[in-house]
Amino acid sequence: MTEPAPSTGSGQALDQAVDEAARLIFAANYVVALVGAGLSVESDIPPFRGPGGLWTKYGEPDMRGYDRFLDDPKQWWEERISRTGSYQELVDALAQAKPNAGHLALKEMEDLGYLKHIITQNIDNLHQEAGSRAITEIHGNRTKLRCLGCGRRWPLDQFAIDELPPTCPDCGGIVKSDTVMFGEPIPRDALDECLLQTEMCDCMLLVGTSAVVYPAAGFPVDVKRNGGRLIEVNPNETPLTDMSDIVLRAPAGRSLPIVMSRLREMAGAR
Ligand SMILES: [Zn+2]
Repeated sequence: MTEPAPSTGSGQALDQAVDEAARLIFAANYVVALVGAGLSVESDIPPFRGPGGLWTKYGEPDMRGYDRFLDDPKQWWEERISRTGSYQELVDALAQAKPNAGHLALKEMEDLGYLKHIITQNIDNLHQEAGSRAITEIHGNRTKLRCLGCGRRWPLDQFAIDELPPTCPDCGGIVKSDTVMFGEPIPRDALDECLLQTEMCDCMLLVGTSAVVYPAAGFPVDVKRNGGRLIEVNPNETPLTDMSDIVLRAPAGRSLPIVMSRLREMAGAR
């Protein structure tokens, strides 16, 4: 007997891994997707690090971002309104980005009852645009504002900014972008929801994430500890690969639609 070949992005190995992934999802009770920047990159949103990355081109951002905001929220808002460079490039890319086949496959997986929740590290709103409903955004959403006092959120276009910094009509707290800044704690409601979802999860899809940043890094570890299974969907090897039960070594936009079609076949044959 020889060891089975590791799953790779080419041909037969990917086919086999896709079949195994579909069977695992089909049999699981509570599937959660943990999504990272790789899925956004497939929608042409530039990454922060690596070749073509915003930080590679424009330099690392201020790691004290949140402290600077708290020191002088008015100045932060004035800068934001007039900002250029990496910020503007990201804003332009986000404005033009559309959900890709990976986002749409996750949406259909939810519609058919296989996927219960998406935990995303992305801020681009593309899961909502794809039509997904059960979503927790660890790092916030670029299309929203959030009150630092009571945690209430508003869509950007439904909040009239008539003073800087804007303040909350409910509690008078300072309002900032919902996007989580460097040094800013993950919003409590989002973190609590992630922990709840992870606790219920018996099969986690790791889509385009290397999950090296906490708290996201802890979720797959918790799922494994509770006896759950991990399916990595990533064109690149990550620190999660060794921990994963199945590896789809391909972009999500290529592999997840095939997983979805297998799931439809299995549902039809039931
Ligand atoms: Zn408030």
